[in-house]
Amino acid sequence: MLNQLYESLDKKYSEMVDIRRYLHQHPEVSFKEYKTAEFIATFYRNLGVEVRTNVGGNGVVAKIHGSKPGPTVALRADFDALPIQDEKDTPYKSTVPGVMHACGHDGHTATLLVLAKTLNELKEQLSGTVVLIHQHAEELAPGGAIAMIEDGCLEDVDVIFGTHLWATVPTGTIEYRVGPVMAAADRFEIKIQGQGGHGAHPHTTKDAIVIGSQLVMNLQQIVSRRVDPIESAVLSVGSFVADNTFNIIADTASLKGTVRTFSEDVRSQMEVEIEKIVKGTCIATDSTYTYVFDRGYPAVVNHEQETNFLAKIAQEVPGVHYVQETAPQMGGEDFAYYLQHVPGTFFFTGAMPTNESNAYPHHHPKFDIDEKAMLIAAKTLGAAILNYSNIE
Ligand code: MN
Repeated sequence: MLNQLYESLDKKYSEMVDIRRYLHQHPEVSFKEYKTAEFIATFYRNLGVEVRTNVGGNGVVAKIHGSKPGPTVALRADFDALPIQDEKDTPYKSTVPGVMHACGHDGHTATLLVLAKTLNELKEQLSGTVVLIHQHAEELAPGGAIAMIEDGCLEDVDVIFGTHLWATVPTGTIEYRVGPVMAAADRFEIKIQGQGGHGAHPHTTKDAIVIGSQLVMNLQQIVSRRVDPIESAVLSVGSFVADNTFNIIADTASLKGTVRTFSEDVRSQMEVEIEKIVKGTCIATDSTYTYVFDRGYPAVVNHEQETNFLAKIAQEVPGVHYVQETAPQMGGEDFAYYLQHVPGTFFFTGAMPTNESNAYPHHHPKFDIDEKAMLIAAKTLGAAILNYSNIE
């Protein structure tokens, strides 16, 4: 049956490419993916597959029931795009000004739709149920996953698999990792209230620029001096605004930054330590502050058994030449939430364009994928389902 699945997917490769290019030309930003959701739902309706729309927002969930009893396996693909102007020179570039599929979610969707079509054709031989989770709004916190889970997309699900096409890794490579694989991504915002005045009379002021500058430097000590060196953490200040003219001392300063961590303990520690530094710096400088620590996605923590299972079956998938362990990445992903509810794994499918001059990182205005990677992703996910359900 596995070979039948592979052959059927091979035959549908051009359809996969067509779907991906159509979506690539018609991207929609997070939480506004109405037409994309409709496109996905229509695809399932035309196949006669059970489909539920508006799941936790714009989410779409389809179910394929095998003829024999067995486990319920969920697959997830996200479908939102980014507010980036497409600068590629390809016939399938975005037709929407300022919006672009710059992370490959169009490819995830095409992969899942065509795999679903194939599984539906083979459902007489299939054991158990396949749940196809098409998730909106991965790119923008709070993301679509939480709302979809609350709306029941994981009901009766025994295991979940998800993949990300990865344009900086060569096609033919599958990367996996047990445990934390993507970081928790949180943001903070600090406002310093000093006291403005004339640049010639600093002693009568509380210079918010000087206070903010101290703060930026003091914050660097959290990762270097407070966090256990065996653990990982990043703290980056990305915005420091205190705009005045040359002879005015700033009344206020505003700082924004991001924090990335892999463990919940370190994450909470960062939240507390930042405030200690802010508080201390403000006491020393006779100023006041407001502080907001806004939690984004938690870390993606892969389950051991399911990850090792995936790594093993991936080695047998046609087109896969390398199956390798990846280092944890500091990027965030709301696939994390599914893994807090059910066992599963999130892996990377190499999708580097063959012409290396076209290889750009994710979220770049010239981002593109090697479309052949979609076929490899579909085969790997398909093999995961069939192997998990013990069908050979
Ligand atoms: Mn992404």
